[in-house]
Amino acid sequence: MLKKMKAAMFVEPKKIEIQKVNIPEISDDEVLIKVKYCGICGTDVHIYNGEYSRDQLPLIAGHEFSGIVEKVGSKVKRFKGGERVTADVNLSCGTCYYCRHDQPLMCSEMRQLGIHMNGAFAEYVKVPQDKVYVLPENIDFKGAALLEPISCVVRAAKKHNLKFAESVAIIGDGAIALMHLQMAKILGAAPIILIGLDENRMKKAKKLGADYVIKSNSNMYEKVKALTEGRGADLVIESVGLKITNEQSFGLVRPGGRIMPFGIASDDCVVGYKPLDMVLKELTMISTVAGAKNDLADAITLVQYNKFKLDDYKTTIMPLEKISDAFNVLKTDSNVLKVLIKIDNE
Ligand SMILES: [Zn+2]
Ligand SMILES: [Zn+2]
Repeated sequence: MLKKMKAAMFVEPKKIEIQKVNIPEISDDEVLIKVKYCGICGTDVHIYNGEYSRDQLPLIAGHEFSGIVEKVGSKVKRFKGGERVTADVNLSCGTCYYCRHDQPLMCSEMRQLGIHMNGAFAEYVKVPQDKVYVLPENIDFKGAALLEPISCVVRAAKKHNLKFAESVAIIGDGAIALMHLQMAKILGAAPIILIGLDENRMKKAKKLGADYVIKSNSNMYEKVKALTEGRGADLVIESVGLKITNEQSFGLVRPGGRIMPFGIASDDCVVGYKPLDMVLKELTMISTVAGAKNDLADAITLVQYNKFKLDDYKTTIMPLEKISDAFNVLKTDSNVLKVLIKIDNE
């Protein structure tokens, strides 16, 4: 086996170099995965722009990936090599207060592959064996690169606890907003209202099962009220990450309802709210940061049994060498929901 591999090194903000670097050395309980596809996530865009995880550069980013087990450590029992896999990228210590209380994402030692340590925009990535999940036969490598974001939406759903016949307003028309939409459909929510800006993506939302698709503007509050018998939505999911969209949540939720800020906002984004409204309306805010524990396995099950459909997530595939260009495609073509980087292993 070669000792060196191709990797996209995020050297400094807005600068990625394709470098030849050492293939990661695995320890006894780790697995080396030959990467097939790795999706570009909003988080990667923030890393690329220098807005997130900047202190970790230079870094091989990439955390939404699929591949084949290439090599296993001496204590690995679950894998032999050759398995088609994806991985949970959230590595927590397993023993601290938070890990013991089922909140591994709060672990002070928590490190995420591709964010705090080298990830999968490379020919190989190493992962602890207990974080590796086998793919069912009917999920291909491309689809599998979408499982990590779905796992984030799975965890969100476990926390916002949307029930059948409850109304939901989803603010946003990006890939993740459309995943929240599919999840709401799985849960039997009604009506499902998506609030967006882009015509192409709003059409897609309709196709994916939104009961109503509304253009984001000053009339949307009245429209959502009209669609919910004058109340407002039982649950509002903010899936953009801007000050304005977070403020809109308060105008869309019904008294007694719940608000989930989900989109990753910039570090300096501060949103005002009226405590009196919060108290008088008994509003609840809920948030989640990623998938954890069994969320990835649940995401796999939902896709495996076609509850969660991936066919409509139009992806653009680009080679590793073109990764810098890939960051622009998402901005310029609203038909593209996701860019996947294809890793051609040598
Ligand atoms: Zn991601
Ligand atoms: Zn811990």
